[in-house]
Amino acid sequence: MKVAVFSSKSYDKTFLNAANEAVGHELVYYDSKLDASTAPLVGNAPAVCVFVNDVLDRATLEILHQCGVKLIALRCTGFNNVDLQAAGELGLTVVRVTAYSPYSVAEHAVGLILCLSRKYHRAFNRVREGNFSLDGLLGFDLHARTVGIIGTGKIGMVLAEILQGFGCRLLGYDAYPNPNFPKFNRAEYVTLDELYAQADIISLHCPLLPETHHLINASALEKMKPGVILINVSRGALIDTEAMIEGLKSQKIGALGLDVYEEEEDLFFQDLSFKIIQDDIFQRLLTFPNVLVTGHQAFFTQEALTDIATTTISNISDFAAGRPCPHEIRYTPKS
Ligand code: NAD
Repeated sequence: MKVAVFSSKSYDKTFLNAANEAVGHELVYYDSKLDASTAPLVGNAPAVCVFVNDVLDRATLEILHQCGVKLIALRCTGFNNVDLQAAGELGLTVVRVTAYSPYSVAEHAVGLILCLSRKYHRAFNRVREGNFSLDGLLGFDLHARTVGIIGTGKIGMVLAEILQGFGCRLLGYDAYPNPNFPKFNRAEYVTLDELYAQADIISLHCPLLPETHHLINASALEKMKPGVILINVSRGALIDTEAMIEGLKSQKIGALGLDVYEEEEDLFFQDLSFKIIQDDIFQRLLTFPNVLVTGHQAFFTQEALTDIATTTISNISDFAAGRPCPHEIRYTPKS
């Protein structure tokens, strides 16, 4: 099957070509992000393969449909960038990668926590400048700290398992609790308000949905402990960034670790080092010494990319062969 692969980077080509070697789909790679302006690039391909920041709104989907596209293959888990209702109405099948190495993302969250709690990002620069002073680098033990995990799915559960090893107390919140979470040592489910009130560190692992948009806003922040460390490796818009800036200025937030940002589409996955970045909110975030931002790289491990490519090719093969695909997603209207 011919597949137009949008937002493709060298690593996408490497891993997708390897997974496709024995299968033989015709993969045509485009650097461009998919949106209504680039959708005609699809030509006569009946399938597109897209990533987190491609824009699959109704306008884009209508153009793809007019071009004869039948399949949207997401090479990621999150699908907040797809108008599923429009896709359903246009008869487009949408498949995704429901699971890949959850260790990649959970371990990245732990990396952000440790970096911020022990100030490695500052120590790295100091030592390179011959400054071996420890002033300002005082950290704290993770042992016996309380960590709130919002979303105890595949990634949240791996994070819980890792943090159990550090001797943390774990507070979970999930719209659909997992009976295995309270089996971890010193772990229990609590209400969101209880989690906010007791956690020293809060890490987000729930999907971005209308009900989780700006979950962490000024009023949530008010309920948290002073000096709380917030970690978001899930989706940018779970956090109201402007409220976080106020929280950082007032020192309510002790540190903020982000792998995602609500306006990341125009920033991440590209080299802008010679450009003037126009996003003043993002630039303000980078001025705080206790903020660490990575550019949506939590998934970026060999194991995760291998899983993503294998599942994506298998999803495309299922569709091409007319087999039901276990990773198809459909619009479900709210009852
Ligand atoms: P998952 O579906 O296994 O887990 C999500 C959990 O969130 C589930 O337990 C679900 O019940 C829970 N949830 C749903 N609605 C909720 C709500 N309103 N409040 C609290 N919890 C709620 O997904 P996962 O594989 O663990 O991935 C979690 C998220 O991580 C994804 O949605 C995606 O946005 C993000 N992610 C980021 C990266 C990255 O590179 N930064 C990579 C993969 C996934």
